[in-house]
Amino acid sequence: IARKRFGQHFLSDPAIIDAIVRAIDPRPGDAMVEIGPGLAALTQPLVERLGALTVIELDRDLAARLRAHPQLRVIESDVLKVDFAQVQPAQPATKLRVVGNLPYNISTPILFHLLPFAGLVQDQHFMLQKEVIDRMVATPSTSDYSRLSVMLQWRYAMENVLFVPPEAFDPPPKVDSAVVRMLPRDHFEALDVDAFSQLVQTAFSQRRKLLRHSLGKWLDARGFAGHFDVQRRAEEVPVGEYISLAQALQGGA
Ligand code: SAM
Repeated sequence: IARKRFGQHFLSDPAIIDAIVRAIDPRPGDAMVEIGPGLAALTQPLVERLGALTVIELDRDLAARLRAHPQLRVIESDVLKVDFAQVQPAQPATKLRVVGNLPYNISTPILFHLLPFAGLVQDQHFMLQKEVIDRMVATPSTSDYSRLSVMLQWRYAMENVLFVPPEAFDPPPKVDSAVVRMLPRDHFEALDVDAFSQLVQTAFSQRRKLLRHSLGKWLDARGFAGHFDVQRRAEEVPVGEYISLAQALQGGA
């Protein structure tokens, strides 16, 4: 029986499961980690191809069932408490491949929890609420462009690879779902994540107002008299400009 508080919606459509596994393209020897394996709908086809797989499951009963599979290494824990630097692949130089049909109630916290580990990661494939993926991949001057777009696009190239209707799950969620592919960028500007997050959050706190109102005083208080045009709305500013502004602020400009 699905536990609502754990966001449990189990995949039950074999064609969708197959399409997700093909999008992930697991190869023997990949150092893969699955978040929230549940009843192993994805776990089973993944481990058949991989030979071994690490899974992170919070639900005690599900974790106990998963331990019966000798090819699985089960971490019974809240994923938000997992230090991915300690989830060692067999070959230390190998990067992690992270996958999962995430619990939707904590999907944004999971994405932010993984952000500092991006350098250890080869790729991430996540099933999420479609609406969240629309925000992740949104471009400026669209209503979906938000803090999530700016912060994640700084560190990842992302694409929506698959639409998944509610009927693919048991029980069906109330929303449409999709699968996103996230590739950590090799080249990115070094930033303090917390300071960057605060800047972007402040900008988008009043997304329909000119930045003069939301960011003007905030920038002045930090002694920043740069050339940043505050006569725009948060949703009009490209990711690269937020990055430059955060760098300038962090450089003490
Ligand atoms: N992967 C399975 C599938 O596709 O059928 C289950 C997906 S279900 C949407 C989310 C899974 O994440 C559940 O198994 C749930 O118990 C687990 N989960 C919920 N919160 C978690 C957390 N904080 N840390 C780790 N796993 C969690």
